[in-house]
Amino acid sequence: MTERDRGLVRLALPSKGRMAEPSVKLLHDAGIAFEPNGRTLHTRCLDLDLELLFVRSDDIPVWTRDGGVDAGITGRNQAVEAGAELDELLALDFGYCRLAQAVPSEHPAMRPADLTGARIATSYEHTLARELDRLGIEARILPISGSVELAPRLHAADAVADLVSSGETLRQNGLREIGTLLESQAVLVARPGLDAAQRALVDDVVLLLGSVIAARPKRYLMLNARDETLDDVLALLPSLDAPTVLPLSRPGMHAVHAVIDAEDVVRLLGPLRAAGASSLLVMPIEHLIA
Ligand code: AMP
Repeated sequence: MTERDRGLVRLALPSKGRMAEPSVKLLHDAGIAFEPNGRTLHTRCLDLDLELLFVRSDDIPVWTRDGGVDAGITGRNQAVEAGAELDELLALDFGYCRLAQAVPSEHPAMRPADLTGARIATSYEHTLARELDRLGIEARILPISGSVELAPRLHAADAVADLVSSGETLRQNGLREIGTLLESQAVLVARPGLDAAQRALVDDVVLLLGSVIAARPKRYLMLNARDETLDDVLALLPSLDAPTVLPLSRPGMHAVHAVIDAEDVVRLLGPLRAAGASSLLVMPIEHLIA
């Protein structure tokens, strides 16, 4: 019986590029401990039957589909571009980008459908072909591996389809966005057909990572309030569920615990204090499973 028969899961992580550091940080924040990989391309987790492989993010869909690894972190767009049939288990809340359709500013097109018959330059030809097909647009795809924005200026193409996050590079190159073909972010994908033991381990990883992603925009607020101010203090609190209210050992006072949005902290602290709250503590939350 091999280790993988006993449930060992191989998880591929991006070895470099913009998704490498946030992927390792996410595992680290989830408490999935492993020896720093340094220059090695694989390492074993300390508490889980998980082997980590560090490979190029655009190779991860193919490695996962073909069984070299069982799961991986990659861009949704990279999974689509590879045409790999994979289970997308979790969106990871980083690596946001979109495949934007753009034309030179003077071009009359206002939406992707206006590009029927046009030549569209892209480095993501499979994704573009799939989306054009889905939209029923017949156009010619010009596959280019880089500097796609130059193609219209050189009259090699009428339009481009490129990955952007802000869209600034397109604007700087005199291009105007007319539509989004795909919304992407980093995702955890798995090979369909994992056995029960591997699936159970992957489900644990999904729970751990998902609980970190859910916790990041939240804060744990603790405060004390005299009983006569309690209602005013509670009225200010938006909470995940209902705030916890606990009697203090000192009579006439209660402690209030609540999960709040991190972005509400600045707005809330002053009014809470003015309403009678004291001993205010705001803490990060490591995991949140609602
Ligand atoms: P990299 O290894 O840094 O080249 O990563 C490329 C991947 O990062 C893309 O396939 C996307 O999934 C993701 N990504 C996030 N933002 C952008 C962006 N502004 N341009 C290109 N790729 C992006």
